Amino acid sequence: MTKIGIIICGRYITCGGGKCLRALKEHAGSFAKYPKEETLELVGFSNCGGCPGGNIEYVPAEMIKNGANVIHFATGMVVGYPPCQYINQFKEFVESHYKIPVVIGTHPIPLKYYNAHDKLSFWGSMKMDKTCGNLLAEDEEIMALYD
Ligand code: SF4
Repeated sequence: MTKIGIIICGRYITCGGGKCLRALKEHAGSFAKYPKEETLELVGFSNCGGCPGGNIEYVPAEMIKNGANVIHFATGMVVGYPPCQYINQFKEFVESHYKIPVVIGTHPIPLKYYNAHDKLSFWGSMKMDKTCGNLLAEDEEIMALYD
């Protein structure tokens, strides 16, 4: 069993987590890395606290107390507009300070968001392929299912 904490972008604080929870159940998006037969348990769900993300400093502690083995940053940090400019710093801090792996991404990128970002001049320069290449390489049919 893998116990997972999810941290979402504070701009979407009212999000009900529907896509993240669906992907967790379906082992889709960034959860596809876990074998299908493995049970995935959500042990924490919170947000960064709003720009510049002060809650990142504290909220992993609660997730770890609840048994989290890994923390996922929600896909909305990657394809919200604008994408979170601190995402790599957040990942490095949490992994260094809390000694827990961080995976960038939860649910597949919805195709309509992917297409919108792909047209932007700065998208390529953000090097998101290095940050979450698995999400960007997703089959477009699966992305469309998450529109
Ligand atoms: S853009 Fe980044 S720092 Fe700002 S609210 Fe979203 S996740 Fe937090």
